[in-house]
Amino acid sequence: MAIQRPKGTKDHLPGTPGTPEIQAAAHAHIQHVAAQLLERAGAQFIATPIFEEAELVQRGVGGSTDIVRKEMFTVYYAGDHGGYVLRPEGTAPVVRAYLENGLKQLGSPLKLWTHGPMFRAENVQKGRLRQFHQVDYECLGSTDPLADAEAIALMWDIVTTLGLKGVSIQLGSIGDPEDRAAYNDYLRGLFTPRLAELSEDSKDRLSRNPMRILDSKSETDQAIIAELNVKPMLDFLGAEARDHFGAVQGHLQAWGVPFEIDPSIVRGLDYYRRTAWELHHAGIGAKSALGGGGRYDGLAQELGAKEEVPGIGWAFGIERILLAMADEGVPFPQGPSPALYLAALDGDYIPLAAALTRQARAVAGADFSYRKRGAGQAFKEADKKGATWAAVIGSNEAAQRQLTLKHLGSGEQVAVPFDELNTFLKENA
Ligand code: AMP
Repeated sequence: MAIQRPKGTKDHLPGTPGTPEIQAAAHAHIQHVAAQLLERAGAQFIATPIFEEAELVQRGVGGSTDIVRKEMFTVYYAGDHGGYVLRPEGTAPVVRAYLENGLKQLGSPLKLWTHGPMFRAENVQKGRLRQFHQVDYECLGSTDPLADAEAIALMWDIVTTLGLKGVSIQLGSIGDPEDRAAYNDYLRGLFTPRLAELSEDSKDRLSRNPMRILDSKSETDQAIIAELNVKPMLDFLGAEARDHFGAVQGHLQAWGVPFEIDPSIVRGLDYYRRTAWELHHAGIGAKSALGGGGRYDGLAQELGAKEEVPGIGWAFGIERILLAMADEGVPFPQGPSPALYLAALDGDYIPLAAALTRQARAVAGADFSYRKRGAGQAFKEADKKGATWAAVIGSNEAAQRQLTLKHLGSGEQVAVPFDELNTFLKENA
């Protein structure tokens, strides 16, 4: 059998084939909209390697997470120490790059954004891939609740600009480390008598990070959680975290960014502090967030920084956004279609068609046939390429130095001299 792509990966294809996750033009469109809005907000683009030292991910994402324990792709090459992994997320790499390259000197707070493939060896299902694509935003250097609110608002602006209507923001706070310690003590007290009934993963979590039991995918665990009537993390917030959370909400309300308080929000990653949120969409199921984010003031020190570098950031999954767009029937952008398509009726005029096409590309999309074409065939080809205008070039056109452009939608014909072609396309493309 011919070789196929690995399980849990997708090819991004031109044209408009069936499932939304594989439409290359739609991927590019989402990145483009995100880039535009993030850069308007002063976020600068950064790109980091797609593989990193395993220790970065272990420390940055947290040893108790499923990502580190079960889903890492390790990278080997001959004679290698085998210590690299394909990055599963963008935050730890961006913070590593910030620290390693002294990006603090660019100013503080510093807003950064990136996009690209992420890798997790997950159980593959709809919207859950092994290679997926994220857009990430990180704001480093501020604990101000304005940074949190702005991050959330930017995410909201991107998804609404993309045309999505059914998105909700679930907002929570996981407090400061001492609040989490108190909450974890409370959870240990609650779950220890039920230890034997918990799933194997949750037994392990009980000692490492009891909060993560609340995130468990096991139905038995969830039944125990429901039965125990567990208090939410929000009940354990200290005064400072509570004030901070209140201020974030106040800014969002002032800016008209809607949100719902979700007292159960935990997030799977260890370095989060205070604000945490998820973006959901009714059409793609409660368990598949479109994106999520949070404050991670403890991360830089976890990665070896001498001083704390507070940070807040988010990531959304491009494939999940595409599923949500498909669910709502938001039209996908198509790939490029030329404003002009030219073909020569005779081989002698192919160089002229090529030269005019290259001239036209200064102002618009333009393409031409490598072979001579009859008029009927030329217009058919132009139509297939989605061209707006098409023309054929023969001895008459060459002698008069003029094209008869045909509008493929309306059939209208316009005579345009060669030296006015670019002006015409600028106005009529
Ligand atoms: P996380 O880093 O887990 O908070 O993920 C952020 C976002 O990335 C999620 O909300 C999803 O949109 C997307 N994402 C995470 N894991 C996957 C996956 N396995 N397949 C597709 N998208 C994913």
